[in-house]
Amino acid sequence: MSTVSKIRDALREKGLDALLVKEEKNRRYVTGFHSTAGMALITQDTAFFITDSRYIEAARAVITDFSVAESTTHKTEKDWLRALTAEYGVKALGFEEDFLSVSAFRALQEAAEKAYEYVPAQELLWTLRASKSEQEIAAMTAAQRIAEKALEAVLPLIRPGVKERDLAAELSYRMSRLGGEGNSFDPIVVAGPRSSMPHGVPGDNAIASGDFVTMDFGCVVEGYCSDMTRTVAVGEATEEMRRVYGIVLEAQLCGIAAARPGLVGAEVDAAARKVIADAGYGAYFGHGFGHSLGLDIHEAPNAAPTEKKVLPEGTVISAEPGIYLPGKFGVRIEDVMVLRNGGAEVITKMPKELLVL
Ligand code: ZN
Ligand code: ZN
Repeated sequence: MSTVSKIRDALREKGLDALLVKEEKNRRYVTGFHSTAGMALITQDTAFFITDSRYIEAARAVITDFSVAESTTHKTEKDWLRALTAEYGVKALGFEEDFLSVSAFRALQEAAEKAYEYVPAQELLWTLRASKSEQEIAAMTAAQRIAEKALEAVLPLIRPGVKERDLAAELSYRMSRLGGEGNSFDPIVVAGPRSSMPHGVPGDNAIASGDFVTMDFGCVVEGYCSDMTRTVAVGEATEEMRRVYGIVLEAQLCGIAAARPGLVGAEVDAAARKVIADAGYGAYFGHGFGHSLGLDIHEAPNAAPTEKKVLPEGTVISAEPGIYLPGKFGVRIEDVMVLRNGGAEVITKMPKELLVL
């Protein structure tokens, strides 16, 4: 079933006449076309994609299941919206409340002139985006392979004296050379005591012997993200470092073993969290076990203590427990898995036994 047909079913179910899609990734999801500007309007009978002169030619060539029309200074997006909602009798218009700024929303409301009502509908898009198609999974797997090859190339460069920011740059560069369209997010490379900061920013800190180095990074293929974290030791690893690494790895494996479609996100998180809590490190695992990813690096639903949503068939979600000991070191190990056929299929292939370089 096409994305537009799925959206129409969801609109019918929610009693909405149409869906307005403006956010960049949502727009790409519904149309399959990437542009930095434009809007899609989907009703039961029709689907329009409106964009400006910078994209109109490419949009007309690529998009098949939308009528493509151009916005100009004489007929702006808002003019198009007013005209189309009137023509198709739209009274209840779904919109993306998670993304629209207050000012943009006010402007849209003014343009509506009370002819129709705006109804929050981002959840509808999140629900559809949560179940990935084979094509989406293939793109994310390709992005994952590139990230792994980049890390393999960077491992020999990790040695005392090398700065965090240099390793981050190497990872980005190599992912680009291997075909990545860009970073999924700015790489995190933190070494030594700084590795206790889960989202530390790579700096001038130079790696020393006895450090843990945590690298969290990913790239984009066909718009879809990969995400992986590996923590390696340099020179030597103390008994405590080895013990904590082993606990994080066991927690990750337990979370992956528990994960399957149909579970509530919190249940998957709990399976991993129990291992860390039982080992006495519960206070040092502050974030969730995993987040969905796709066109965005963070999507819904999550595998986190507060997540009440069910993980649907086709969820692509990270498995990334960590233990962070302030002033000492941190360990995180992250893979990405697809939940389908009653279980979890890990798409990350890179080994995760403790590496001492
Ligand atoms: Zn990550
Ligand atoms: Zn992640």
